[in-house]
Amino acid sequence: MAEVPEVETIVRDLRAEMVGREIVAAEVLQAAALRFPEPGEFVARIAGRVVLGAERRAKHILLPLSGDQMLAIHFMLWGTLLLAPAGRRRPPETLIVFQLDRDQELHFLDKLGYARAALGSAEEIVERLDLNSLGPDALDPSFDADVLARQLARRRGALKPVLLNQHVLAGLGNRDADESMWLAGIDPRRAPATLDRDEIERLHDAICHMLEEGLALRGTQADLFGRPGRAKHRRYIFERTGQPCPRCGTPIAHLKLGGRNTHLCPQCQR
Ligand SMILES: [Zn+2]
Repeated sequence: MAEVPEVETIVRDLRAEMVGREIVAAEVLQAAALRFPEPGEFVARIAGRVVLGAERRAKHILLPLSGDQMLAIHFMLWGTLLLAPAGRRRPPETLIVFQLDRDQELHFLDKLGYARAALGSAEEIVERLDLNSLGPDALDPSFDADVLARQLARRRGALKPVLLNQHVLAGLGNRDADESMWLAGIDPRRAPATLDRDEIERLHDAICHMLEEGLALRGTQADLFGRPGRAKHRRYIFERTGQPCPRCGTPIAHLKLGGRNTHLCPQCQR
């Protein structure tokens, strides 16, 4: 699943591999993959642009291009990018193909077809994708327990949906949120305001641990070059309903919180 460790792995690969290279042309194979503009306009406007950088905001991948354009890509659940030799067979999950210099192509793929791309000026991308309303990034060095405490203060509802709200904290997906709350020993149904300082610090440390471990192992999916990451999709409790908790042996429980599948140990998450 494409959560922040997977997205950040691809962004780092893009930064190492793509900066300074030209997008010679593009083919939109599935028009629904474009948020904006229309496919014809997209193809006409992106041709000949040089990639100037690769950045991440929450789960958005941002590629600033020459001529004041920015390509934005969001993987949703299972999207990815793959660098391939020109002319390689395009699997059915191919959404967009970017033809590059040096006889290579960048394939934008998603087996579910939910992943999306957009092209516009930097200002247009920030405004239309509402990037300025994102919360602090959990991988940013300035993210500490004080920031987490401040972001959770006065938030209503259960902890888990609040942690998944990218306007509160950018960086946690469903999997990493469940594993972080298990590591911290905190029940995802708790009201954020009831967490004491020690619990906030444990939760902060657990979030950082999950994200940094996932990133160090290069995520759970393939990287830009198709090499599989070594992180586990099912690490401690995620999608392990009924299996023993690695800490206390109690069967892992499953419930829905804010419409999302949630996994927890009913014994050691308080
Ligand atoms: Zn347990």
